[in-house]
Amino acid sequence: MKIANWGNYPMVEGNITSLEFEDEIRHYAAQQHSFTIRGNGRSYGDSSLDTHIFSTLKFNKILSFDTEKGIICCQSGVLLSEILALIVPRGFFLPVTPGTKFITVGGAIGADVHGKNHHKDGCFSAHLIDFELLNANNEIIKCSKTENADLFWLTCGGMGLTGIILSATFGLKKIATAYIRQESIKARNLDEIMDLFEDSQDWTYTMAWLDCLQKGKSLGRSVMMRGEHAEIEEISEQKKARPLALDIKPKLAIPFYFPNFALNTFSVKSFNFLYYHKQFTKQSNQIIPYEPFFYPLDAIYHWNRMYGKNGFTQYQFVLPKESSKEGLEHILRRISKSGQGSFLVVLKLFGKANLLSPLSFPIEGYTLALDFKIQKGIFELLDELDKIVLDLGGRLYLAKDARMKANFFLQTYQLDKQNINKHFSRSKFDSLQAKRLLD
Ligand SMILES: Cc1cc2nc3c(=O)[nH]c(=O)nc-3n(C[C@H](O)[C@H](O)[C@H](O)COP(=O)(O)OP(=O)(O)OC[C@H]3O[C@@H](n4cnc5c(N)ncnc54)[C@H](O)[C@@H]3O)c2cc1C
Repeated sequence: MKIANWGNYPMVEGNITSLEFEDEIRHYAAQQHSFTIRGNGRSYGDSSLDTHIFSTLKFNKILSFDTEKGIICCQSGVLLSEILALIVPRGFFLPVTPGTKFITVGGAIGADVHGKNHHKDGCFSAHLIDFELLNANNEIIKCSKTENADLFWLTCGGMGLTGIILSATFGLKKIATAYIRQESIKARNLDEIMDLFEDSQDWTYTMAWLDCLQKGKSLGRSVMMRGEHAEIEEISEQKKARPLALDIKPKLAIPFYFPNFALNTFSVKSFNFLYYHKQFTKQSNQIIPYEPFFYPLDAIYHWNRMYGKNGFTQYQFVLPKESSKEGLEHILRRISKSGQGSFLVVLKLFGKANLLSPLSFPIEGYTLALDFKIQKGIFELLDELDKIVLDLGGRLYLAKDARMKANFFLQTYQLDKQNINKHFSRSKFDSLQAKRLLD
């Protein structure tokens, strides 16, 4: 069958096996020569793709939930959306969540995902207590920060190359309501938005939507969203009756792939104009449900079809703080000139790196994520951007990548190919991405 991840690029021929029970999984892994591990395929590129794919989606039971300590244990195929449905009504929230709740716990560990609170709370691995890993010798190894710690850190961000994470235990954060106190603030250009990030470091959640087609004095025009979990006193009397109730709206769906002409410079410019001006005042303060704050795109099923059948790729880079301004200016100017930008451009400020996990993406500095439709000239443009990222000491996020070159990857992650391959078990657990970057 044809299979792709969220970017619909690349699309490959592969077969998927999904199993419900641990002994079946062990049997499969023992028999299979080489395969890739897949959660919900919400990475954008080729990281959970190959000819033989093992999907964890049927291995999805919650094993325990300690409501005293706020600790949950589940099988790796459980989706974050399923965890939220269980924990929010009981006054808990995920310690770290990406911009979609439709990922598995295995995928959250495999990519060591980050959220809008990285500057305060780090990556998913920071909250992980332990997990069980099925390794290439078909043994189940318990890993934590004190037990098999090397394997623990290699697996966090290890993109499925150390083995199958079977189950995991992690800590949750306590919340009083299912609402967020959000401030959204317009910034006229890059200087303003970077100042806002610096001034907002005490806020738990910060991110900005950025208009990548602006030029000159408006280069980097954006809207910052910063938020905190709302306390009971902050929500309306009506909401106080059920402060932890989930307010999930019916979803819209994009029923078919948009034709190729639908997304062009004109439509992106129009969207960006409307988005920036929909808020009349410089600042707007609101109490909103957590769903639109954390997962605005989840409200539209299959929004990835907007980019047409050829798919798209997301370019997410991070630059060290000291070179972030120079790099962002340079890259935004280059993108604006190309006219190739997308409307879903997100800027965040990362805190300290997780230095124990060699493939964990965040380093301290600014990260920008942009979607690009797969079309003529796009890979040449991204190769050019790579040069800027490399020169300035940055790197790209593996979970979004489908095209970076092996040398660029090894240089930017400061890895030695032989050495890193020794730590992985690629004769058993491999992927198209690993073949592209590590062969
Ligand atoms: C709309 C959208 C917004 C996003 N926003 C963010 C964001 O803000 N921050 C962020 O960090 N990411 C973000 N992502 C990326 C996403 O969180 C990661 O790619 C995540 O890894 C996807 O999880 P998955 O379950 O779909 O796994 P997959 O995409 O199927 O797999 C991802 C990787 O994890 C490995 N893996 C999966 N399960 C296991 C397992 N059980 N054992 C071992 N390895 C495993 C796979 O081999 C693969 O290398 C976003 C993605 C989308 C579509």
